[in-house]
Amino acid sequence: MTAVKVTVLGSGTSTGVPVIGCDCEVCHSQQPENNRSRASLLLNHAGRNIVIDTAPEFRLQMLRARVKTLAAVLYTHIHADHCHGFDDLRMFAFRDKDTSIPCYMHTDFIAAFKQRFSYAFDSRTQYYGTLPQIDLQPLPDKPFTVAGLQVEGVRLPHGAVMTSAFRMGKFAYATDFKTFAPELIANWKDKIDTMVISGVRFRPHKTHSSVQESVAILQALNVRRGFISHLSHEVDYHKHRRELPAGINFSYDGLSFVV
Ligand SMILES: [Zn+2]
Ligand SMILES: [Zn+2]
Ligand SMILES: [Zn+2]
Repeated sequence: MTAVKVTVLGSGTSTGVPVIGCDCEVCHSQQPENNRSRASLLLNHAGRNIVIDTAPEFRLQMLRARVKTLAAVLYTHIHADHCHGFDDLRMFAFRDKDTSIPCYMHTDFIAAFKQRFSYAFDSRTQYYGTLPQIDLQPLPDKPFTVAGLQVEGVRLPHGAVMTSAFRMGKFAYATDFKTFAPELIANWKDKIDTMVISGVRFRPHKTHSSVQESVAILQALNVRRGFISHLSHEVDYHKHRRELPAGINFSYDGLSFVV
């Protein structure tokens, strides 16, 4: 695998940070690392861009990362914080009217996604520039190639739904899950050099792993470099990062590295 540049576009939990109306210290923090848009990730491979999820701040995230073209979108699941920036995909069709961006999501989500964004799938309104030009496809259940990159998707429990986590060679991204099955730990152990994983907060959460639970998963997988993401306002980047073990840090909007 040739080098892949990974950028965390959004490192926040579903509310974003600051949280509307909140007066806590983190929500009032002037540190850029404590300012978190909703979860989304960018992979740049051989000059081609793939995004994982289209968060509500998708437009701002694309501007900040200076993304001009998009080869594909991978969706983890369709909770609002992971896909409500969907409409801004249409700008890529404005630029190039032959564009049709392949968007992959687990087959379980396709009907609900089409219902939620029904306007975009209505052939009567479908003309250049007005709608996202996408080619919605079920996520293959075997490793497949996206824009030249080998992708393995696996499923993780997340409350009432299952999310898809992705491994691209030595990099993996897992967000919005409660647990990793022992079989997956065994399968991915020693294969991952760098991983971005959700953690949300220190207190236990019903549908998400906590920071400590995610640290344990990173350690069980023997990941060399781990970044905990999808963070709430209960995590103060500069204060709490000191409590993390060596090789593990919190992620932040704009964090980027090469794998
Ligand atoms: Zn989420
Ligand atoms: Zn707050
Ligand atoms: Zn979710």
